[in-house]
Amino acid sequence: MGRKNPNIVITGTPGVGKTTHAEELARNLGFTHLSVNQIVKDEGFHEGRDEETGSWFVDEDKLLDYLEALPLHTTGGYILDWHACDLFPERWIDLVIVLRCDSTMLYDRLTARGYTGKKLEENMDAEIMQVLLDEAREAYREEVVVELRSEGTRDLEENVERVERWVEQWREDHRDDVDGEES
Ligand code: ADP
Repeated sequence: MGRKNPNIVITGTPGVGKTTHAEELARNLGFTHLSVNQIVKDEGFHEGRDEETGSWFVDEDKLLDYLEALPLHTTGGYILDWHACDLFPERWIDLVIVLRCDSTMLYDRLTARGYTGKKLEENMDAEIMQVLLDEAREAYREEVVVELRSEGTRDLEENVERVERWVEQWREDHRDDVDGEES
């Protein structure tokens, strides 16, 4: 039996707007927002963190076991929000959104969040070098990966509308896959 709803990954450098997009989309679509960083932290799926950059040394096996136990790949309807995306098995994921942001704007957002030194520098470099976009393109089929700008509220509104239309189309296209659930 096919999934009733698609699963969507929202990825990008810290500060690009993943949480903002994921929360709004989850609310509008009735999907479940999984903040993967929060799960790693709350469930202790890590072996400490890098003092300088603050990033977790993630225990990927534990994280994957946790995600595997969710109805993610049976019912769908999940939004996975994380700065990395190549960990999730391709068969779980229907759309990968890579959010992008102008570097001056990202600098302001990250400094407002208290990022300084190496932590700030590494994230700025990652955005400028489009590291997350390249990772997404390497891990998923080309047609699944979409790059979207997240600089102002107008972008946010347009992106949310665009993804909602995409979800409607996905449901339409997968109507027959869902056993007896759809007319
Ligand atoms: P991430 O989850 O990728 O770290 P957040 O969603 O927490 O990013 O956004 C970081 C900051 O930037 C927040 O203050 C948020 O309100 C702002 N922001 C992100 N995207 C936009 C956007 N498209 N328009 C206006 N503000 C945005």
